[in-house]
Amino acid sequence: MIKKQFLADEAQTLDFGKRLALATMAQFTAPQSTMTEPQRNAVARSLGAVIYLTGDLGAGKTTLARGFIQGYGHTGPVKSPTYTLVEPYEFEHGNVYHFDLYRLADPEEVDFLGVDDYFEEENVCLFEWPLKGNGRIPAADLFIELSDSGTGRTLNCRIQSEKGTKIAARLWR
Ligand code: ADP
Ligand code: MG
Repeated sequence: MIKKQFLADEAQTLDFGKRLALATMAQFTAPQSTMTEPQRNAVARSLGAVIYLTGDLGAGKTTLARGFIQGYGHTGPVKSPTYTLVEPYEFEHGNVYHFDLYRLADPEEVDFLGVDDYFEEENVCLFEWPLKGNGRIPAADLFIELSDSGTGRTLNCRIQSEKGTKIAARLWR
């Protein structure tokens, strides 16, 4: 199944990322919830998820990832992992690993990153340029594609697992 969403500007991409983050929590809490951070952590154990972010350079993949990571409670900068290949973000309620595999010459290089633990079921892995890691990274629950649409972006989300179905059902109610 595919879901479609128009994102008019950067703020809407960030907001989508944040809502996607909340939708991966075991117990769903609305984004406008007034709970404090510790209260949120108590109910907000991550389900874990594998999310592919595809689209051309400049499509908004890192922007969406930034919103997602902020949705988990991160307040500092979210750097693009273009050179480091992966940036880890660890929280009480779950870990988020943000990959950008653009610079991989061969999928086999994934094996040398030492990221096997990152691929545990309970973690969230966000992959920019997932096809560069083809066969060496976990299958996606959600396959997101961003493309230019006027001055904004169109987001297509392919739902590829039961977990993906659960997450998407919260986003598109
Ligand atoms: P990518 O990681 O796909 O290469 P980035 O996330 O770095 O792309 O974003 C590229 C640019 O697109 C940024 O300047 C960002 O502000 C802008 N942008 C993000 N989302 C939107 C949107 N929905 N509409 C218009 N511009 C956007
Ligand atoms: Mg990027």
